[in-house]
Amino acid sequence: MKNQLISIVLPVFNEEAGIQATIDTLLNYIEQQEENYELIFVDDGSKDKSVEIIKRALAQNDHIKLVEFSRNFGHQLAITAGLEYTKGDAVVVMDADLQDPPEVIPQMIKKWREGYQIVYGKRMQRDGETIFKKFTAKMFYRTFQKLATINMPLDTGDFRLMDRRAVQQLLKLHEKDPFVRGQVTWIGFKQTSVLYHRQERIAGETKYPLSKMIKLAVDGITSFSMKPLHFVNLFSVVPLTSGVFSLGYLIATSNYSFASIGITVLLFTLGLLMLSIGILGSYLGRVLDQVNNRPRFIVSKTEGFEERNKGIHHFSARQINN
Ligand code: UDP
Ligand code: MG
Repeated sequence: MKNQLISIVLPVFNEEAGIQATIDTLLNYIEQQEENYELIFVDDGSKDKSVEIIKRALAQNDHIKLVEFSRNFGHQLAITAGLEYTKGDAVVVMDADLQDPPEVIPQMIKKWREGYQIVYGKRMQRDGETIFKKFTAKMFYRTFQKLATINMPLDTGDFRLMDRRAVQQLLKLHEKDPFVRGQVTWIGFKQTSVLYHRQERIAGETKYPLSKMIKLAVDGITSFSMKPLHFVNLFSVVPLTSGVFSLGYLIATSNYSFASIGITVLLFTLGLLMLSIGILGSYLGRVLDQVNNRPRFIVSKTEGFEERNKGIHHFSARQINN
C-alpha cells in the first residue's frame, strides 16, 4: 500500500495560535503510516502569521503544500479549492485546529479499502463547544433533514475521506456558495461513517461566528430544498382567511371599531409578508450569484506543487477529467 497517496486538505483562517501544533502532529502522524501523504493547506485570507508559519514548515518538508486565496472566501470554498489541488487516491478533509483527530484517518482508510468511496466522521461527542453551538447545530441538522431533498447523515461535519472518483464528481458541481457536506451526500456513491470523539480546539477561537453559521445554514437549505418557497404560498392563507372573517364580522355586526383585531391581523400579515420576501430573496440571491458567473474564488499563489500546477488563478482554468 506504500504506493497509495492520501491527500489531506486543511482550510486555514487566522490559525496562528495552533497551526504549528497541527503541522507537527500531522507530520508525526504521517511518518508512522505506510501510505504516502500530502498535506494541502488552503489559506483563506488569513490576516495573522498562519501563512508565514506554514511556509516555514513547507521549506523543510516536501509533504506540505500551500494554496493561498487572495482574500477570505469562506471555509466551504477553501475546502473546494483544496480538493482541486489534490492528487491522492483518497482525500481527507479536516479542520486545521486538530478538532478532527488524525488517529481516525486509518479507520477511514480501512473502510475505503473495504469498498466505500465516502467515509464520514460522525461525532459522538463534541468537546469544548458552547451549549449554544451544540444546540443550534443539532436544530439545524434536524430541520435540514425535514426540508432537504437529500438524506444527509446526522452529526457529521466536513471531516471525511473521499475516493478520487468521488472527488472528481464533486468538483463538477459548480455552485457558487457550496454546502459541501450536502453536495457529498448528493453525489451518492457507497457511503459509510466512522464514529469519533470531536476534540476541543487546540488553540485560538472558533472562526465560525454566528453570521457565518447563519450563512452556512441558509446556503445549505436554499441549495437542497424548495420547501421554504412553498411556505410562502401557505402564508397567504392567513391574511386571506382573516380578510374573509373580518368582512363577515363587519356585515354581521355593523361594528366598524374592532381596531385591535385589525391591527393584530395586519401586523401578523406584515410579518409573514416580509418573511416571504426574505425567503424569495435568499433564493433569488443564489440565482443572481450563479448568473454573475464570477470565479468562485481566487488563488493568489501556490507553493510546494509541481511546476504544472503553478499559476492557476481560478477553478475553471483547471480541466477535470472523468
Ligand atoms: N475556516 C476557513 N475560513 C473561514 C472560517 C474558518 O478556512 O472563513 C477554517 C478554520 O481555520 C478551520 C475550519 O475552517 O480550520 C473550521 O473552522 P472552525 O474550526 O473555526 O469552526 P468550528 O470547528 O468551530 O465549527
Ligand atoms: Mg474547528
